[in-house]
Amino acid sequence: MDHQLRRRAVAARLDDLGVDAFLVTDLTNTRYLTGFTGSNGQLLIGGSFELFLTDGRYAEQARRELPHIERVASQRPYRGAVAERCASTSVSRLGIEGRSMTVAEHARLAGALGSDVELVASEDVVEHARRVKDDEERELIRRAQAATDAAFTGLLDRFALGVSEGWIARELERLMLEAGADGLAFDPIVAFGENAAEPHHEPGHRVLEEGDVIKLDMGALVDGYHADMTRTIAFGQPAVELQKVHDIVRQAQQAAIDVVRAGVTGVEVDAAARSVIDEAGYGERFVHGVGHGVGLEIHEQPWLGTTQGNELPEGAVVTIEPGIYLPGIGGVRIEDMVEVRDDGCAVVGVSSRDLIEL
Ligand code: ZN
Ligand code: ZN
Repeated sequence: MDHQLRRRAVAARLDDLGVDAFLVTDLTNTRYLTGFTGSNGQLLIGGSFELFLTDGRYAEQARRELPHIERVASQRPYRGAVAERCASTSVSRLGIEGRSMTVAEHARLAGALGSDVELVASEDVVEHARRVKDDEERELIRRAQAATDAAFTGLLDRFALGVSEGWIARELERLMLEAGADGLAFDPIVAFGENAAEPHHEPGHRVLEEGDVIKLDMGALVDGYHADMTRTIAFGQPAVELQKVHDIVRQAQQAAIDVVRAGVTGVEVDAAARSVIDEAGYGERFVHGVGHGVGLEIHEQPWLGTTQGNELPEGAVVTIEPGIYLPGIGGVRIEDMVEVRDDGCAVVGVSSRDLIEL
């Protein structure tokens, strides 16, 4: 993974941004640009220098993970080192990440820099670059999805009358780790029966009953990269309306997958799924956008929804996840990650989307 190329791309934008240097304080962006996996790190990128800042706990780890970047590991707050470097390199306008820097941190940084340096807030400088995954990133996402597919297959044997949502969630975690995941990409959603009507239900004590739908939203984490998949299956035969709704959601998902290619907008992909659900009379029950980017974060750019006019770039990995939720009855969501290509897209996972009846 060429972190240096990514940093150079930021350095090449300094003029555009109207700054002499750019300070990355968002930890995920810092990881993207350096490979650093610790919990405290900042990166200062100037026209002719790069400086990584962390504290003493991470001196060794930073030396190992970032051998080629100038590093400062200090007990002092990073702001002092930033101020010194800005002074010694005549930085008078310093770019910062306006989306993630808190008001309090902004005040402390401004205090450390003094009146010679003006802070210039920008948004999405690194997030925008992160939308396009390189080969290695796509490979890590594929590995995370492979672990997710394996865990889903293994989980199908674990359902029985009386098992609880919480127990299934714990089994899912165990199976993910066995399949090679470093951990879970997020707390899984396991929803039985009427609980499936909540898009983001938290698994609890509800036990499995005959005729329940089972909604599972799950993903593995591999080397910092996330997978995201939802399947809706059933224990025995579910209500006729839920069988019908499953069919509609599946068609809606396919309709959206069919329009994904580089250059299409998030609105257009959303509309492809939404029109299928609208025509079936369930438009009011599709209560969220159709998808989102996935990478170092489980939810990241680009966004796909009714107000998301951003174009999907080639190389993005996004989810397609329409759903229909019927309060008191249940719900269905089907979600897959796809890789955006010039001429279409490729679904990353291999798990069946059928309404499997256990
Ligand atoms: Zn999901
Ligand atoms: Zn998702």
